[in-house]
Amino acid sequence: MAGQTGAIVQQSLNALMGDTAFLPNLQNQAREQAFLSLAAILSTPNKVHKAFLRITVDNGNVVRIPAYRIQHNDTLGPYKGGIRFHELVSEDEVTNLAALMTLKNALHEVPFGGGKGGVVINPRSYSARELYLICKKYVQYFSDVLGPDKDIPAPDMGTGEREMDWMMSEYKSIHPGHPYLGSFTGKSVINGGSLGRREATGKGVYFTFRYMLHDFLKAQIGWLAGSTNPFVQTALAHSDRPLSIAVQGFGNVGSIAALEAYKCAYLHNKVVAVSDRNVTLFNSDGLSIPLLIEYAARHQGDLPDSETALAELDLKAQILSREDVLFLDVDVLILAALEEQIRKDNVGHVKARIIVEGANAPVTGEADEALTSRGTIVIPDILANAGGVIVSYFEWLQGRETQFFTEEQVFKMLYDKMQKTLNGILPAFFGDPFPLRQNCYNHAVMKLSTMLYRQGKLY
Ligand code: GLU
Repeated sequence: MAGQTGAIVQQSLNALMGDTAFLPNLQNQAREQAFLSLAAILSTPNKVHKAFLRITVDNGNVVRIPAYRIQHNDTLGPYKGGIRFHELVSEDEVTNLAALMTLKNALHEVPFGGGKGGVVINPRSYSARELYLICKKYVQYFSDVLGPDKDIPAPDMGTGEREMDWMMSEYKSIHPGHPYLGSFTGKSVINGGSLGRREATGKGVYFTFRYMLHDFLKAQIGWLAGSTNPFVQTALAHSDRPLSIAVQGFGNVGSIAALEAYKCAYLHNKVVAVSDRNVTLFNSDGLSIPLLIEYAARHQGDLPDSETALAELDLKAQILSREDVLFLDVDVLILAALEEQIRKDNVGHVKARIIVEGANAPVTGEADEALTSRGTIVIPDILANAGGVIVSYFEWLQGRETQFFTEEQVFKMLYDKMQKTLNGILPAFFGDPFPLRQNCYNHAVMKLSTMLYRQGKLY
């Protein structure tokens, strides 16, 4: 398990080891031995599958594309996690993302383990036919290790409903007569997908922020007022006034999180900036997110990046460079693009006091320390962006029962689940001066450790 994730898991294990109320039957040398086993289990993926997908591309050449499926841990259920199509995919990256899935599912009590897939391509450089072949090949190469009770992929960066539909159809033809609806989640609704799955991650990201900084805080204000905990002070300073919000990334997660913030009129918050791979758009009076979503849908997902395009839309905004979104003088920054966006070298320029990780691992370990040591609240990925996998779980259940929920039911179940997790985490976070990420990891690691112990795996 790479750097930050591994270090935080180890800290959680150290805390559990010193807590004699935890697994009291384990003492002295047996306890030490068990914690060594735990560290080894949680820091290493169970299985690493790698293949070269050989595809005949449209010009007749044959290309070899590296592809991975990494199965990190299945203590809590079948492996589960997305498949990423991106040119920077590497074995290390996918391994770290798979470990995050294990922790995310444990934290939210989703009965799945953690896995992740990756294909080293820039999907924008391939035709639909080529992408179809890549999806088919991916399933052919990994079909033995995938399945509704083994490992269930889903979309991630660069993939969506279309890719899941292609993959499930290949899975179905390789395993005729077997149940297949639960083999992939994030499929199109017509193909057995769940209503609300597409919006689930973005909606969950905004819900987490809103619940934590508004509903929870309002309900708990009695015991929090007067607290000297720096995170409580930051939260209270942002609780009773309209906030300015910037969103990095305008894909499936960023655009929906921005739209939720825009629609949440009763808080009077303003989305003042959004960004994509080309530009940042800024307007201190707020941006019309529905208009921008409509524009992006007509332009391969891109935001308007010229004065002419803005004039056509009748939208007033300053055009800034794409990194500028990170350094604006805003209250809240939602990170919904790639990992490692806020690093040691740029963290000094970040002004937002509340950072929400819609993407996986967008803040490096060093940057996280710098932010939290100055009382900035970082709402971590495994807490904030679990909406996708939670609704994937509902989709998997619906596939098993072949009975489908309404969109309203899906969102109600999603928010109930996220709220339950938040209610379990936030009192400790506002009570102790430990960063929220460490609190979340402690919770997840405790659950995994208990289960590993009960399953007799610590000897
Ligand atoms: N790729 C998403 C994530 O990182 C969703 C995974 C899933 O639905 O299995 O959480």
